[in-house]
Amino acid sequence: MILGSGGAGLFAALHAHKAAPELSITVAVKGLLGKCGCTRMVQGGYNVALAREDSVERHFMDTIVGGAWLSDQDLAWKLVTLAVERIRELENELGCFFDRNPDGTIHQKAFAGQSFDRTVHKGDLTGIEIINRLAEQVWARRIARLEEHRAVELIRNPSGSAIAGVLFIDMRTGEYVFVRAKAVLLATGGGPTMYKYHTPSGDKSCDGLAMALRAGLPLRDMEMVQFHPTGLLAGTHTRMTGTVLEEGLRGAGGYLLNGAKERFMPRYDPKAERATRDLVSRAMFSEMRKGNTTPHGGLYLSMSHLGSAQVTTQFKGMVERCADCGFDLAGGLVEVVPTAHYMMGGVEFAADCTTVLPGLYVAGEDSGGVHGANRLGGNGVANSTVFGAVAGDAMAAYVRQQFLQEPDTEKIKEAVDACERPFRNSGSPNLEAMREKLYDVMWEKVGIIRDGSGLQSAQGELEALDAELDAASVTPERAFNLTWHDWLNLTSLVAVSRAITLAATARRDSRGAHFRADFPECGPLDQSAFTSIHHDRVSMKPVQFSRVVPGQTLLRNVA
Ligand SMILES: Cc1cc2nc3c(=O)[nH]c(=O)nc-3n(C[C@H](O)[C@H](O)[C@H](O)COP(=O)(O)OP(=O)(O)OC[C@H]3O[C@@H](n4cnc5c(N)ncnc54)[C@H](O)[C@@H]3O)c2cc1C
Repeated sequence: MILGSGGAGLFAALHAHKAAPELSITVAVKGLLGKCGCTRMVQGGYNVALAREDSVERHFMDTIVGGAWLSDQDLAWKLVTLAVERIRELENELGCFFDRNPDGTIHQKAFAGQSFDRTVHKGDLTGIEIINRLAEQVWARRIARLEEHRAVELIRNPSGSAIAGVLFIDMRTGEYVFVRAKAVLLATGGGPTMYKYHTPSGDKSCDGLAMALRAGLPLRDMEMVQFHPTGLLAGTHTRMTGTVLEEGLRGAGGYLLNGAKERFMPRYDPKAERATRDLVSRAMFSEMRKGNTTPHGGLYLSMSHLGSAQVTTQFKGMVERCADCGFDLAGGLVEVVPTAHYMMGGVEFAADCTTVLPGLYVAGEDSGGVHGANRLGGNGVANSTVFGAVAGDAMAAYVRQQFLQEPDTEKIKEAVDACERPFRNSGSPNLEAMREKLYDVMWEKVGIIRDGSGLQSAQGELEALDAELDAASVTPERAFNLTWHDWLNLTSLVAVSRAITLAATARRDSRGAHFRADFPECGPLDQSAFTSIHHDRVSMKPVQFSRVVPGQTLLRNVA
């Protein structure tokens, strides 16, 4: 059973099928297979060390340094080495066409925070190519699909020693469906959609992470929420606000300007606009706090100095997206704002994608530990495809030696009961007001710049929101009751927001994406520790420097 049909879920399905064609494999997804999730939205591309002058060691060091030494180094090593295999598989076995150089080699472009131009892409809409080809391959095989099936609970066997299956809501009818499975992959893609400005697809509401928390799995690095510097800011009337303008724009030499149309990034970092996302987002937020902003309260992105024709050719999709919102990316200024983009945190897992719960695997954005405190642009889709494939291989081998487990029926009843709660309540729901409250508290108090008192007050506000949700009601229809699903979305988002806030409170330093105004120092790198949440307790666990220690490098000829 595979939950989610992004890069992680589809790669897992294909690999499990290849390893064991006789297996009964099902991909269950909240939306339609091939049409939902964030892998489809990947714009910029896929990091992989292919060029002769590049190396997996260099990609690894960029990942570790970018992640502020918090990454699990064995996971990061797996990412960079297996990305090479996956990109070959995508091209040669699955049929993706990526952009090429005139000599026939794959074109690789610059992304921020990297010491080499290693981002493979298809124009500036790479994810559509990847997901379309993966979906076609899944459709062509004997792999079952449960579309518009929303997973609501991971169910163990009665002793709790192994996974027994997953409880779903069939969104088309509103009926509950329990599916038994010998192995389950959690690949629902995280997604920080609890922030006022955010990039992920609307189907993502941290359901997988919320289910994992309820199932008692430890989650790590939850305070590490990445803000992408260039979210489109086109006013409150449009859902385009918050959507991302790709990293390659800054990589290619784009400038960020404040409301007075002055370039400010060189004052914050020597790499200016090409610094990592955390640094650029924080600099932008600081400029915004000074009040020197654009009409919508953000900043400007300027590309025109690179030549309007060149920008139009190189970033066709982005130019069109901006034009749809009334901005001229190639020749004028575009209003932008940092936007919540990616969760580095997620379920703790081993290099074969196993978790502490036998039979439960995790891959992609639901997992934590690969990126540490900050994900490099281009490492997200590499992460989901690499670990999706690892999970598929591992699950195929595991399932061959397993029997189906009996489910804990009490837990199924409890989970159904929890989902039914809003049908039992009375009064009209005002989910929109609750969502706005959630947006505001997360953006203002648990966002780009945090401090102890803000985090404490956020915890209180999130608890109050939780209670409000508990008391909210929805209309009694079952089939495609989107208000009910919105209620379920918000329930997951509030649970995960509380975990983010707890972890951010526990980390009394500033690392990567996590910045505490009251603890601005990063602390000694050689004593790095990551946050681990189990139920609602946070502990700090030391990072194992299994391949390289802070201050050293795997690269030769580097002073
Ligand atoms: C706009 C945008 C641009 C990006 N650009 C890049 C880029 O250029 N390079 C890069 O490396 N990364 C990029 N990323 C990040 C990248 O998309 C993700 O890191 C990666 O694709 C996540 O893959 P995934 O398989 O874990 O999740 P997803 O692809 O998001 O898939 C999650 C799946 O789970 C399903 N799901 C969710 N909840 C449930 C539930 N309760 N029950 C059943 N199914 C459920 C969803 O419907 C979806 O099918 C970008 C992200 C966004 C939002």
